[in-house]
Formats: sequence, structure tokens, C-alpha cells
Amino acid sequence: MTRNYIEEIDLLWQRQLTEWDAVIKNYGNLANVATRVVELGDSSIVLQYNPERLRSSAANIDAASLKTRPCFLCNENQPHEQESVVWNGSYKIQVNPYPIFTRHLTISATEHTPQCIAGRLTDMMLLAKDLQDYVVFYNGPVSGASAPDHMHFQAGIINELPICDELFNASTALFDANNKGIFGVITDLGRPVFYIETMNTDLGELWLNSLLDVLPVKNGHIEPMVNILCWHNSGSWCIAVFPRRKHRPACYGTGEDQFVISPASLDMGGLWAIAREEDYNNLTLHDVRLIYQDVCLSPEDVEDVSNKLREYYYSKK
Ligand SMILES: [Zn+2]
Repeated sequence: MTRNYIEEIDLLWQRQLTEWDAVIKNYGNLANVATRVVELGDSSIVLQYNPERLRSSAANIDAASLKTRPCFLCNENQPHEQESVVWNGSYKIQVNPYPIFTRHLTISATEHTPQCIAGRLTDMMLLAKDLQDYVVFYNGPVSGASAPDHMHFQAGIINELPICDELFNASTALFDANNKGIFGVITDLGRPVFYIETMNTDLGELWLNSLLDVLPVKNGHIEPMVNILCWHNSGSWCIAVFPRRKHRPACYGTGEDQFVISPASLDMGGLWAIAREEDYNNLTLHDVRLIYQDVCLSPEDVEDVSNKLREYYYSKK
């Protein structure tokens, strides 16, 4: 019999929200956090003042720091209250104790193995299908993941991430399309996003891999810098890929005119959890625009990648 993961996860929420003090406290606080919205053209960016996220936005992810800290995704280092729903024998789905969403899950590999998307795209799609109402997201090892040494996705409520809705109405320049889906790029939402909509996991994986194959890979990196969102809606998977050129913007820091903001998938999706109050108060639309421009792929690189994909799919026709 197929398992009903949503039912199991609802029960997990019920238990953790009544039995685990840190979760009760942090989800209670989230209900009262300050938020404001900046409009970036056709895209809404929700700024959320969330002091608990400092551990993530200021995390040291260099090899030496990782080696000396206990991995918070491995069972032996997790609080005794933290429970799991094991998905397909290979990932444990858990309540994230430092939420940005009203329901925020961490989905980590059952083994301690490096953050790497190769071979896991289909898992991501199948997880999204089993977690209806959630958007599953992936932060590359140098694109926002705070545990790059332990493979993990996260998931949160779709309706709380503005871009999921906006992509349906955005104009997409197509690379390929057929009766099973579309694949293209959207450039008018203030940050470039490669977008796939398909009812077929094989096609989704093929298109995603063709994109990952042509994106630039920096020296010493194991994969292109990316943030990926994936959700399942009315029988189709929607996949949004944000290629990155930088982990942190030039304005990252604690000095004057600087921000402790280290963008990851949710920032790309239009939900910015901001850890410091002064950053939350001072950030302007201009800053938001500059940070996106600074950390996302340049327009020239987007054009170059798009041309390669267009040529590739055109030559197959
Ligand atoms: Zn680990």
C-alpha cells in the first residue's frame, strides 16, 4: 500500500508542536514576526524580521569550520525530542526548529553525504508530489546551504512563497515544449529564473540536467551554483532554477551600509528572512534589486546559457 506522507507529517506536526519546547516557542514567535512587502516590478518580495535565522545567514561553511562542528543533521547530534518520518528509506523528514514558514520541514539524507544535486532530481520531484501544499527546495553547497557536508532539501508552504504564483503569469522564453511540458527562462521578475513545468519526471530530469550541464561551474566546485524550487500542482511538476554567481553579495557584513543577508532559495523565491533588526528596517527596494543582481547570473551569462539550450533543442527537432 502506498503511504500517505501528508497524513504522517500532519501527525508529526501535532506531536512536535505539543512535545518539543523549542518548536513550540519558535513557531509561536513566528506567528507574531514583523513583515513588510517591497514590490519589484511584477514580483512581491516579503521581508520577514526573523532573529533566529542568524545562525543560518552568518554560518561559517568553510571546510575547517565544518570539520570541527557536530553535524546537526546527523541523528547522534540532534535533540532527543526531534522525530522523523522516513521517506522511501533514504531521507528523514523533520520539523525545522528555526522556521521561516508556518510549516517548515528539513528533509535530509539518512546518511552523512555531501550536498550535491546529481542523481537526486527525481527524488526531489517525488518528494514534492508526496508533500502536496509544500514547495521543496535545494540550496547548493555554496549557494545558501548551512550544512553543505550533509545532503538535504527543505520544504515549506507553497502559498507563503510569492514566486510560486508569479511564475504562472510570467512570460517564458521557451527552449523546448511538447504535449508533456514546457522549459524556458523568465527574465522580468528582477532575478533570472529557468522554469520547467511537466507532468513527466523523466522529462523534468532531462531538462534539468541539460540546464545543469551548460551552467558555468567554478574552479573547485562540484556543481553549478544553484537554488532550486520544486512543487507539484494539478498533476504537473513546477521547477524553478536560479543560477548563482556568488554566495554572498558585496554588501554582506556588519559595517555601515552593509547587511547580514546571505541569499538562498527562499530569498530567490521572494521570502527574505532577515536576522538583524537594522537590516530589516533599512533595506530598500534598491538594495533588494542590487543584491539580486549581485548574486544571480549576469544577463550576458543568462543569454549565453539560453542560446546553448535553444541550439541544443533546436538541433534535436
Ligand atoms: Zn551529518
